This record gives sequence, structure tokens and C-alpha cells, in this order.
Amino acid sequence: MPYNQVMFDRKQTRQISIGDDRTGRVLVGGGAGVSVQTMTSGYTWNIDECVAEINRMTEAGADVVRVAVPQKKDTEALPEILAQTKVPIVADVHFHYKRAIEAVEAGIHKIRLNPGNINDRDQVNAVIDACRDRGIPIRVGVNEGSIIERKDKQQRAEELGRFFADRRQGHLLALMIAKLEEYMEIFEAKDFHDVCISAKSMDARLIIDIYTEIAARFDYPLHLGVTHAGPKETGAIRSVVALGTLLANGIGDTIRISYASDPVHEVEDGLEMLYSLGLRTRRGAELIACPTCGRIQVDLFTLVQEVRKKLANEIELPIKVAVMGCVVNGPGEAEGADVAVFAGDRRGIIYVQGERVANVKEEEILDALLDECRRFQDRVRNGEATLGEKKVEIVPPDPIGELGSGAEKIAAGQVEQVTIEGN
Ligand code: SF4
Repeated sequence: MPYNQVMFDRKQTRQISIGDDRTGRVLVGGGAGVSVQTMTSGYTWNIDECVAEINRMTEAGADVVRVAVPQKKDTEALPEILAQTKVPIVADVHFHYKRAIEAVEAGIHKIRLNPGNINDRDQVNAVIDACRDRGIPIRVGVNEGSIIERKDKQQRAEELGRFFADRRQGHLLALMIAKLEEYMEIFEAKDFHDVCISAKSMDARLIIDIYTEIAARFDYPLHLGVTHAGPKETGAIRSVVALGTLLANGIGDTIRISYASDPVHEVEDGLEMLYSLGLRTRRGAELIACPTCGRIQVDLFTLVQEVRKKLANEIELPIKVAVMGCVVNGPGEAEGADVAVFAGDRRGIIYVQGERVANVKEEEILDALLDECRRFQDRVRNGEATLGEKKVEIVPPDPIGELGSGAEKIAAGQVEQVTIEGN
């Protein structure tokens, strides 16, 4: 499904195309949807493991995958890796420009160069020439960590530093912009525009500032990312703050979330970020769940995790599923769900688009809910139902009305908890 549900005014940029006829082409910038990238964590020369990792990422929804090629044996492995994978592959090149040339000759779909460690103009020109011949785009990826203050950059940095004098980390930002401008001049001189840009930092505030500045200065598509974001627990917050802010402001054409953990989480969280912003059509079910409170009468946390796993494996359509701890606030909080369960007193009432379909024991909730999700998916596929057509309504009297006088007392604020009676 194309990722084209754009909600915000996106900044207009040039467009690059990554991939070939076999992988399909991922368009970046120029009005294309925002794509999700990730990077393998193992050695590229270890072909079997590299292919297995790329294929797991592809299965999780990655649009583009990057691999490191620090050694010649890495670029030598590329033809076999490219033959066994289905997504466009990017070669991540640092220090050795010849790795880029070798990767291009191996059929790579995109090159990433780091201006912080491949500086020689002739070397960059050689990479540009090789890429131009084969229609391969280049990402110019500036990194906070590889920016070295040199005397010849100081003056420009100081000029820019004054411009940013009232901003956080103005000096580092200025150095990164100065480096980027200097590097991009090489590409402009070669009249090579098949380029996208990134400027990564571990500081979310710096990322927001620098990408905002780059978007004002260049019309190349932007690859967003937080570098060294740490483990998923903290990296997710940093990424959401930085990338979410930029995307909500219309800046960013492709994203890579970086975690010190299984890269599949990077893909899953990147997709969820785009779904949340309405920048991409959801693949699979959307799960809504209450955080629980003192009204809870079932093991909701376990149930939610089990439902999440099952939905990911079994439901392909973007069905909205709600798992709510009670019928007091649950129906209101689950408004808009296609399939919902409201739990209470070790039981659950299941609704499909506003219609009560089951009242089951706690241990039967998971299977019953999944059955309803599968049935609903079949009905949508057969044209008998439409996603999001009918909302779960805010009740009472239904379903509270059918739960007896106890529920009515709750509705009237006379008691605190719901008792759901069995069928
Ligand atoms: S749905 Fe019920 S149990 Fe869950 S948070 Fe809301 S009031 Fe509490």
C-alpha cells in the first residue's frame, strides 16, 4: 500500500529514487510519502546472517536497509546479498572512498558518505562520477560525532554561530552547517543533484534546530535520525521528540530510528510514528488499550500484550481494536474502534461496530476477540462491512443497561465497580 496519507503541509524538495526494477523503487522527497529505513547490526561479509537480518527487517516493514562496508570483504559480499534480498540496500561508507566505488560496481542502490571522514575533493568527485553513471543517489550524512573543528572552518562557524547566538548549541550547529555547505558545494560544482541530506546528533533539540535550518537552506530531501539514541527505552523518546516535531512541521522525507537493540524495533517504531502522524497508511490492526485504574477487574496488561502479538500476526487490515478495562469509561475511551472488549468482574463484553456480539469469561476473551477481528476482516474483504464506519457508542444504557441494576448504580455514580453477569 502506498504511504501517501499526508496530513501536514510538507516542505517541497527534489526527489531521489532508491532501488531497481527487482526491488521496486522507493521515492524520497518531491511529494513522496515518508519511508522507513534501518541498518543491519551484524557484519556485512557474513552473507547468510546479513541476508537473514535484512529479510527480517523487510518483513517488519522496512523500505530501505543500510549495511556497513568498512572492509573490502564487505563490498565483495554485496552482489550475493543484493541477489537474496527484496528491498533497496544502501552502503554506509566512512573513511575509504574506494568502498563506495566498489559498492557501486557491486550494484548497490544508494551510497551514504560522511563529510566528517571523506573530505578529499577528488575522492568525492570519483564517487559522484561512479554514482552518476549508474543513477545511484548519495546521502550526505553529517554527524555530530565526526565534526572536527578545524581552523579553516572556524571563521564560517563563528559567523553562523553569531546568527545562532541565542540558540542552544549554536556553535556545534554552526560547524555542522558549515561542513554541510562546504561539502554540498562539491556536488553543486559537479551538477549532481541526486542527493539527500542528514545531520544527526544525539540531542533532540539540536536535531530540531539543524534540520529546520537545513530545510530553509537546501531543497534536497532530508533523512531524519537521532544518532546514538541509546537503548529503545530512552531512544524511543528522543526519536519521537526530535523526528515527530520535525515531521509535524512538514520537514523530513525518510526516517531512521536508531536503537542499541534489535533493529526490527527501529522499523516497528518508525512505522508507528508515521501512522500516528497520519503520514502513512497503517499496515495491520491498530490497538487501543486503557492504562487501567482502580476499576480494573481483569489482568488487562497480559491481555493487551497477547492481543498485540496475535493482531500483528493475524490481522492485515487496519482494523481499530480496543481493549478496555471496564464499561464505565471504556466505551467513551474506545470511541471509533471497530472491535472492542470491555472487561469487568473476570468477564468481557465484545462489541463489533457498536453491536454487542459476546459476553465471555476472562480466559476466553483473547480467543473470542481474535475470532471477531478475523470475522470482521473477512466481512470487510467481502464488502459486507467498512472500516471505521460505525463507532462504538458512548453508553449507557447499552452495554451497561444489559448488565443489570449494579451497572445502573455505577452510571448513577452510586457504586464504583461494574459486575458483568454471565450469559
Ligand atoms: S477503561 Fe475503565 S479501567 Fe480502564 S482506565 Fe478507563 S476507567 Fe479505568
